[in-house]
Amino acid sequence: MTAKILIVEDEPLLQDLITYALEKEDYQIVNMMTGTDGLATAQTEPFPDVIILDVQLPGIDGFEIGRTLQNNPRTANIPIIFLTARSELRDKMLGFDVGGVDYLTKPFDVSELKARVKATVHRVKIEQERARLDLEKYKTNLSQNTSYELLTPLSKILSALDVIGRDATQGNLKQLNRMIEIARSGANELHWLIEDLLLANKLSQEEVKPLFHQKINLAQAINLIVEQTMMKYKSENFRFEIDVSEDCFVKMHRKHLYHVLHHLLDNACKFSKLSPIGGQIKVMVHPIGENGAEILIQDKGVGIEPELKEKVFEKFYQPDMSITRQYEGMGVGLYISRTLARAYSGEIILESQPGAGTDCYFIIPDVND
Ligand code: CA
Repeated sequence: MTAKILIVEDEPLLQDLITYALEKEDYQIVNMMTGTDGLATAQTEPFPDVIILDVQLPGIDGFEIGRTLQNNPRTANIPIIFLTARSELRDKMLGFDVGGVDYLTKPFDVSELKARVKATVHRVKIEQERARLDLEKYKTNLSQNTSYELLTPLSKILSALDVIGRDATQGNLKQLNRMIEIARSGANELHWLIEDLLLANKLSQEEVKPLFHQKINLAQAINLIVEQTMMKYKSENFRFEIDVSEDCFVKMHRKHLYHVLHHLLDNACKFSKLSPIGGQIKVMVHPIGENGAEILIQDKGVGIEPELKEKVFEKFYQPDMSITRQYEGMGVGLYISRTLARAYSGEIILESQPGAGTDCYFIIPDVND
């Protein structure tokens, strides 16, 4: 695609000279005479690939335009070649410590300008191509991963229904109930996954409102979610130890609490599954005031490398999306958990030793309302 070059220069002769020189190079040229028009054009999509920007301009000056563009993430990466008098160069250029900024002092040689523009356009094209390939790869991995995640519980449901449909349980009520339980567990997992996808996108688009606070008995909530988790990981024989007193409460939206507990327990299971010594998962609760709590979920799984401790909270974070799919999941669990926890002024903190396990703290402060 032809590179789009925005020239902002108020001297008509100079503008003609630059335009003429660059037009021969097959660029799409857009000319602006004032700072105000130049800035407006630079901020309008499709954005220019390169901006040639005079410093002394009527209206807003070139440096001000540069700073405004740099403050907007969408325009921050557009390379700028400043045209400036030698006297105004040094100190002012120091304000721009971004790699994409170049300058030419007036009077300048047209062939030098051409060479600079050509090199800059080349660099931009390479960066754009790299970003495109990265995004392509990310999209492929993400859709593959998501499909795989949805397919697993669906297969569970289908095979259980198949057994029932063929009447393979032959009237054995215990067998039949087992198949129904498997199908129900699969449907339940599928429900969580789809809710997660919707919730992850919703959370990144709008601020989470705690809605209303329900007083929830933590022992009951934890037991329920542990039971669902155990069903999902039935074949792993994990041992869950729950230490929570009956009179411990938090004030949250019930659905939000369930989401966080579900993800934190699910993570503990995934980490445990990958470790030869994993299998013991503890849930311990310390009350904070009347309606707050610190919930510790502790596993003896593979742990998290220190450099990944914050990265794992990114939306759609995938430690290894492509090859082994060693870590299962869509990479939204911790993102959802932390976002929800913070909506209640709470927090999720991970303390981990690679190879030895992870302590995950879910803190919900006491609220008085
Ligand atoms: Ca000027």
